Amino acid sequence: MKNNILVIGSGSREHAITWKLLQSKDVDKVILVPGNAANATMDRVISVQCSKIDGESISNICKDYNVELVFVGPEVPLVDGIADQLKRKGISCFGPSMKAAEIEGSKVFCKDFMARNNIPTATYQTFTDYNKAKEYIETLNYNIVLKASGCAAGKGVLIPKNKEEALNSLKRIMIDKEFGSAGDEIVIEEFLDGEECSLMCFSDGYSCVVMPPAQDHKRVFDNDQGPNTGGMGAYAPAPFVINTKSGKGSSGFGSIIDRCVESILKPTINGMRKEGRPFVGVLFAGLMVNKQNGDIKVLEFNCRMGDPETQVVLPLLETDLYEIVSACCDGRLDSINVKWSDKYAVTVVAASKGYPDSYPKGIKIQGLENNSHINQDNIIFQAGTIKKGDEILTNGGRVLSVTALSTQLEDAIQKSYTLLKTISFDGMHYRSDIGQKALNHLKEQKEKQEKS
Ligand code: AMP
Repeated sequence: MKNNILVIGSGSREHAITWKLLQSKDVDKVILVPGNAANATMDRVISVQCSKIDGESISNICKDYNVELVFVGPEVPLVDGIADQLKRKGISCFGPSMKAAEIEGSKVFCKDFMARNNIPTATYQTFTDYNKAKEYIETLNYNIVLKASGCAAGKGVLIPKNKEEALNSLKRIMIDKEFGSAGDEIVIEEFLDGEECSLMCFSDGYSCVVMPPAQDHKRVFDNDQGPNTGGMGAYAPAPFVINTKSGKGSSGFGSIIDRCVESILKPTINGMRKEGRPFVGVLFAGLMVNKQNGDIKVLEFNCRMGDPETQVVLPLLETDLYEIVSACCDGRLDSINVKWSDKYAVTVVAASKGYPDSYPKGIKIQGLENNSHINQDNIIFQAGTIKKGDEILTNGGRVLSVTALSTQLEDAIQKSYTLLKTISFDGMHYRSDIGQKALNHLKEQKEKQEKS
């Protein structure tokens, strides 16, 4: 018998999750709460608007549509305890309990957890008292990062250039309350140099299955210039952490990722279970890779899939996603043989004029009506879009995310931009250098091989 599954969220990430779930032999309909204009482009999708995302309202929708499993896209409902609320109503949830979601909901908890479990991370101190934090900063002679402990929609991390800026950042978080109560507690940690990598895994609370390592592009402009955003594009697998010289290893992605699984992902899943917080869902590790000494340290954990990482990782998944998700909920992930494509995936995000600052909504989007160019290797994932009559309008900062797959990275990049250029709206902007760093890495690797 086929199942209905409910997906919570409205971004490209949730579009990608829905698109993948619809390919499952076990899925009949996906109930998307609320989704976006893409809902209407997919057969077997029912979109439901819901003014408040909580256990009560979602379990009522589950009853109406005969749903037994919920996939939660964003972090806030998880941190607020939706998985526990649904469980009490007899509904399975792919996403961690409130106690397990604290790994993202409280940076203080996350850092202390890593320290207790010997998971490599930057040296840090935590504070609830502004004056004590100020005194501490005054004693330091290295660069630091300041983090509001609570959820701040990805904005609560400040990277000052000097001590004066550091003291000002502290004031912004703890006195001016720029991030509200998220800044009641603060983490101050050493600044780490290197290149970032996003490593996600599925987990049933006991074992974990690692996904292809991805790299996001956080800054709004080319060459990593301008302010941070939710993410302007991504690619996977990221060549700088794929080292398959001595084989694919147990992870399937070579010795560096094997090491990350053994020293970071497994100890985290085991530590969370031992501390009475079994983690079921997708664990996301934001890593900093030091290119000089090869050290890998955790910058943060997220309790859900990344956006835009999902838009490059799920298209590479060859195994039935519903099978994996239901196995995680039932604690039998190790019975599933998860397979990934050998291709590269690249996604480029198109954003509204002004994003990541304020931006207009309701701008007409051209080129989305004609979906004939979309297939398994060329996909337009929608985010801030809304259908009004016959028109599709912008409805958010990040509007869509165009993914392309190919056996060659260069080709995947090119295909993604070619597809993106079929779409337009007033003020649309995107980075033109997504994947360039990876191409440079591949070139370097090739040159090294030729020399040796
Ligand atoms: P987080 O939410 O903790 O991952 O921080 C957001 C972004 O801030 C990361 O993706 C990094 O670019 C940067 N960041 C966070 N912590 C550090 C650190 N210790 N050193 C350097 N950059 C950092």
